[in-house]
Amino acid sequence: MTTPFDLSGQTAIVTGANTGIGQAIALSLAAAGADIAAVGRTPAQETVEKVRALGRQAQIVSADLSSIEPVQRVVDETLEKLGRLDILVNNAGIIRRADSVDFTEEDWDAVIDTNLKTTFFLCQAAGRHMLAQGAGKIINIASLLSFQGGIRVPSYTASKSGVAGLTKLLANEWAARGVNVNAIAPGYIATNNTAALQADETRNRQIQERIPAGRWGDPGDIGGAAVFLASSAAAYIHGHTLAVDGGWLAR
Ligand code: NAP
Repeated sequence: MTTPFDLSGQTAIVTGANTGIGQAIALSLAAAGADIAAVGRTPAQETVEKVRALGRQAQIVSADLSSIEPVQRVVDETLEKLGRLDILVNNAGIIRRADSVDFTEEDWDAVIDTNLKTTFFLCQAAGRHMLAQGAGKIINIASLLSFQGGIRVPSYTASKSGVAGLTKLLANEWAARGVNVNAIAPGYIATNNTAALQADETRNRQIQERIPAGRWGDPGDIGGAAVFLASSAAAYIHGHTLAVDGGWLAR
C-alpha cells in the first residue's frame, strides 16, 4: 500500500546537498523513495553514500551555482545519469553580514546571484522539462527574511524576499500545467550558515528565548516539509512559503 507521501520512482535534484539543510532534505526525499541528483560545488560524497544505503540511486552533479552558466547542464546531467526529473529543490545559498552603510557591491552581487538569479534560472531549466512532461514539484528554500527585515543582511533579505515572490509568480504561470512551485522558510537551523550566531553566546540565548519551541531547529526538521511539498499530498498547494520555524513567526 502506498501513502500520498510516497516518492518511489521519482528523481529529485537537490542543490547544496553536501551539508546542512540540503543534505537533510536529500536524505528525507530518499527515505520517501526518491533517487537523488546531489548538485553543488563541494562533492556530496557522504550524502550520496547515505542515499545509496537507503536503497535509492544517487549521483553527484558538480556545479558552482554562483553563476547560471551550469544550470542547463545540471538538468541534462541529471536526466543522463538518473533518467528522470520530477522534483527540484533549490537549496544552495549564502549569506554576507555587514552594516548597510558599509555593504559592498561584491557582497550584494554574490548573494543575489546565488540565492535569487540561479534559483530562477534553475526553476526555468527544470520547469521546461516538467511542463513538457505535465508534472513536477519545485521547492525553493526561502527564509524568515522572506517575511521579516532582518539586520545587517541586506542582500540576503532582498534575495529571500525575492525567492518568496518568485515562488508565487511561477505558481501563477505553471499551476494549471501540472507543476507545483512552493517554498520552505526555515527558522533558525543549526548549520554552517548560522555558525556565527550559534557561537555568539548572547545572540544564541536571545534567539532560543524568542523561539516558542525553545530550541534551534535541526536540519532534519526541514526534511518532512520537503517530502510533503514534493508529494501528491501537496497536489493543490501552489505558491506557498511554508515556515518551519519552531513557531518564530507566530510570536
Ligand atoms: P550551509 O550549511 O552553509 O549550506 C549551504 C549549501 O549551499 C552548501 O551545500 C553550499 O556548498 C551550497 N552553496 C553555496 N554556494 C554555492 C555555490 N556557489 N555553488 C554551489 N553550491 C553552493 O547552510 P544551510 O543552513 O544548510 O543553508 C541551506 C539553505 O537554507 C540556504 O539557502 C540558506 O539561505 C537557507 N536557510 C538557512 C537557515 C538556517 O538557519 N540555517 C535559515 C533560513 C534559510 P559548499 O559546502 O560547497 O559551500
